[in-house]
Amino acid sequence: MDVKMLKQELIAYSKEIGIDKIGFTSADPFTELKNRLIRQQELGFQSGFEEPDIDKRVTPGLLLEEPRSIISIALAYPSKMTVRVEGKKGERRGIFSRASWGLDYHHILKDRLKKLEEFIITKQPDARLKSMVDTGELSDRAVAERAGIGWSGKNCAIITPEFGSYVYIGEMITSLPFESDTPIEDQCGSCTKCLEACPTGALVQGGQINAQRCISFLTQTKGFIPDEFRDKIGNRVYGCDSCQTACPHNKGKNFHFHDEMEPDPEVAKPLLKPILKLSNREFKNQFGDVSGSWRGKKPIQRNAIMALAHFKDETAVPNLIEVLENEASPVSRGTAAWALGKIGGETALIALKSALSSESDKNVLTEIEKGLKFYS
Ligand code: SF4
Repeated sequence: MDVKMLKQELIAYSKEIGIDKIGFTSADPFTELKNRLIRQQELGFQSGFEEPDIDKRVTPGLLLEEPRSIISIALAYPSKMTVRVEGKKGERRGIFSRASWGLDYHHILKDRLKKLEEFIITKQPDARLKSMVDTGELSDRAVAERAGIGWSGKNCAIITPEFGSYVYIGEMITSLPFESDTPIEDQCGSCTKCLEACPTGALVQGGQINAQRCISFLTQTKGFIPDEFRDKIGNRVYGCDSCQTACPHNKGKNFHFHDEMEPDPEVAKPLLKPILKLSNREFKNQFGDVSGSWRGKKPIQRNAIMALAHFKDETAVPNLIEVLENEASPVSRGTAAWALGKIGGETALIALKSALSSESDKNVLTEIEKGLKFYS
């Protein structure tokens, strides 16, 4: 087998199937990452969404028998919508982060990796391959960094010189001894723009993130949002791009290479009030194809309630009262109570007082008290 030639063929084929950047690295363990992950765990900075077994996250040999290399791929996504919609008084809109625009990127990357796998198998039928995107054991970022896709920025994203950090990344462990590419030198330098831009101070100098403070993570949780973050979340219903938009390497980066990634504005920037009333089926119809729906309807509804409070949208008071009185989820009822207090007005006050005597859930009662405090 001529691995050098196969690598060149793969690079050419990757361009044909819409992979914007491809890099190769060894399947050696990611020893540096291991220490970082242990430290992250000790500090309580993890999100809880990651693979719990640190050894699996850093040892390709635990995931594929006798691995020899890892292929990393990157696809650039748009940073600006071509069709724009603007919210207005009485018709306020939320926003999904860019990584949730268009079709769920897990599907897109898996499709490209599958095509790459098929290509390799036609050339080398006995090759062993294992692909993964995001939810796999390996750190996509550590692989991309070592494979020369980009450097790992202080904003904890992979930054490519060509597309900035607006890239989706995934990888494939292989049994083939592809030659490694050279990593790209860190170009953050003394810049700290993303650290300053982070609304909650979640980024820690040195490229670490405290997931427990990260708005992107918080919008994906299912419980009550801690008080200190509620105002900072603004109108984000899923994710946060502050550390990306602040980065000078993302300036002017806006690529529309892939039709599947084009956002439907009514999904990426949806009207907030209708979200409060969506049935599960309606939610699936509107948001089911985007990655931001992976935690289901409830977190998006809770975030939409907070966004209406952020806008102090008085026209949403009847919708919020409806949630407070009839919604099954205590998190939605409680967040609606807080939102009603924040928006204020006589109607909201009457509803809060009435709920105080009819509500039995102690967490919701606490939120009603918080709502009433806005009047004192
Ligand atoms: Fe690096 Fe500055 Fe970009 Fe942050 S904003 S990732 S420090 S270049």
